[in-house]
Amino acid sequence: MGSEDVYNAIIHKVDRSGTGDVRKKMRILSGMRSTGRLHLGNYITLEKWKELQDAGNDCFYFVADWHALTSHKESVSDFELWTLEIVKTYLSCGLDPNRTVIFVQSAIKEHAELFLLLSNLVSVSRLQRMPTYKEQKDEMSDRDLSSAGFMLYPVLQAADVLMYRAQGVPIGEDQVYHIELTREIARRFNTVFDEVFPEPEPILSKFPKLPGTDGRKMSKSYDNFILVENDANSLWKKLAPMVTDPARKRRNDPGDPEKCPVWDYHKAFTIEQDQQNWVVDGCKQALIGCLDCKRLLFDNLEKRLNPVWERMSSYRECNDTVRKTIEEGNEKARLSAQETMKMVKSAMSTRW
Ligand code: SF4
Repeated sequence: MGSEDVYNAIIHKVDRSGTGDVRKKMRILSGMRSTGRLHLGNYITLEKWKELQDAGNDCFYFVADWHALTSHKESVSDFELWTLEIVKTYLSCGLDPNRTVIFVQSAIKEHAELFLLLSNLVSVSRLQRMPTYKEQKDEMSDRDLSSAGFMLYPVLQAADVLMYRAQGVPIGEDQVYHIELTREIARRFNTVFDEVFPEPEPILSKFPKLPGTDGRKMSKSYDNFILVENDANSLWKKLAPMVTDPARKRRNDPGDPEKCPVWDYHKAFTIEQDQQNWVVDGCKQALIGCLDCKRLLFDNLEKRLNPVWERMSSYRECNDTVRKTIEEGNEKARLSAQETMKMVKSAMSTRW
């Protein structure tokens, strides 16, 4: 059973007694690093977060500023501003602080304490063998990733998830190894000490990662991403020059959408099947030009993002209100974290 199926099986249970749909609530945890403003790849994740919230789950979503430190320590003075902007984007994308706990990782010092305890349950060689360890070092070769903090960050992630005894973690496919490690650490803790942690399930996005507008991997260093906060004008300025299937040099050259990053964006943002068919047939049979294709994508994106942009502009002058929302979320997260730490210490029979 795939993780999406596991998720569906867990939350979409239908009450056979006939009293209606009694979706079982899950504790959900996920976060985004405070390394800058959010892009369309993040937006897709936020839609998933909102869907989980709206399905009645018990959601904890945070800004992972300690994680950002592992690769962006030279920008630490910007973290506070970025955190504020990220939370504004969370709220603009429909996360509701009355139903969901929105908090900042560094405000909950218990994360550091649990991270320290859990780091004793995993070997250095296991961390060095994490496929993402080498991949990210290669990807971010312009950054200093030689720190122990960078190697240990999957353990900090495990501490984030286990702190809230989360049962589901919405992630991209590249994070599956980290959830596997989290499950191993949970099992190890439960075996060595006492049963405290559930083993979380990954909840995979049905969309693969969006590529950058130049067809390469989306990256801040290539400046090939589209920010959620872009207005219609800047959105078109990013979409119009996007690279396409190189076979489509002229309008009457047929192409293959699977070789085109614009099609990846359509898959995520063009919902209507007949519009998707129009793109595929039009591209393969050279019935449409690439600009027509991008214009349709623009229209669909604009429709989807318009309400987000409206809410964003209403938050522009509301820093104090957003800070208050964060403080309230921190308070709720802290209570939950303290409860877990009591269970952890009791399982370990310590008086720390
Ligand atoms: S028609 Fe659309 S999918 Fe095909 S190459 Fe052009 S932009 Fe890409």
